[in-house]
Amino acid sequence: MRALVIEKPHQATIQEVEYPKPRMNEVTIKVERTGICGTDIHIYEGTYISSYPLIPGHEFSGVIHEIGPAVTGYSVGDRVSADPNIFCGHCEYCQTHRSNQCENFAATGVTRNGSMAEYVRVPANTLIRMPDSMTFQQGAFIEPMACVVYAMNRLQVQAGDRVILFGAGAMGQQLVQAISRSGASELAVVDISPSKLRIAEQFGATRTILSDELDTRLSGQAFDIVVEATGIPAVIQKAFTYMGPAAKYLQFGVADSEVTVPLSPFKLFNKDWTILGSMAVHYTTIPAMRWIDEGRVQVDHLVSQTLSLEQTLDFFENAKNRDFLKTQIQL
Ligand SMILES: [Zn+2]
Ligand SMILES: [Zn+2]
Repeated sequence: MRALVIEKPHQATIQEVEYPKPRMNEVTIKVERTGICGTDIHIYEGTYISSYPLIPGHEFSGVIHEIGPAVTGYSVGDRVSADPNIFCGHCEYCQTHRSNQCENFAATGVTRNGSMAEYVRVPANTLIRMPDSMTFQQGAFIEPMACVVYAMNRLQVQAGDRVILFGAGAMGQQLVQAISRSGASELAVVDISPSKLRIAEQFGATRTILSDELDTRLSGQAFDIVVEATGIPAVIQKAFTYMGPAAKYLQFGVADSEVTVPLSPFKLFNKDWTILGSMAVHYTTIPAMRWIDEGRVQVDHLVSQTLSLEQTLDFFENAKNRDFLKTQIQL
């Protein structure tokens, strides 16, 4: 089968590789759509937890092509997506409802081969059945949306909270929709792109601010919740300055793993701050699937372009220069 293989950081090719035959408790999916995520860019650039060579791709939809001998409840031809995260089930964290911190954490497209290929092999217990009404384009949003569901579960927005969100990319736009339906009274969205800010307004942002104008337009304003969805150190530092008394901060954007930012421990103490992380997905794929299927969040408008596997190589080379929201690959 054809696959996009990252051989080492900054070096990827399209190759003919062996078909991934399902083992006992696995299925092999014929991939229809794969979303490209910021994490894939980090993997391509060598700043994430992956080792190489690796076929990336963890946001996908497709059709079951072959079933392992021990799998029950699924048939060839079923339309599915899958949770890329694979939890061992027996470590301390798995046994205390913290599986996304699993000591033996593995993930399709991150630590094992993913869906930027004609076929992907996944454990059957990570499958999610797609409703008949859901398109493959939408199905490839179940995983990123599940990250948003998990973030919302972490944040626990209270009625009337004033929220500021940094970053209006594809994930940011999904957060805008979720936060604006959560009971927040104000949702300010900050980004460098005027076109992304216009989309955020359509999705429920109550005010939008270009990064350049932040100091003049929002100087001194305090928020109850600060959500950082860029992962850029300078933005993270800026985001801290908008935290009001007893504010919650959520790091949603993935920063390079080596990066650190200064934080005042005195303010953390004195202001009663809460600082939260949001590690991907934690049994949140089914709520995400329902949000999308019921039209509570719109994902179709977020697809800026659809590429072939070959075009994806060029995309990886130039990813950071572009003004796109979600890019998907049609296999
Ligand atoms: Zn992702
Ligand atoms: Zn575990």
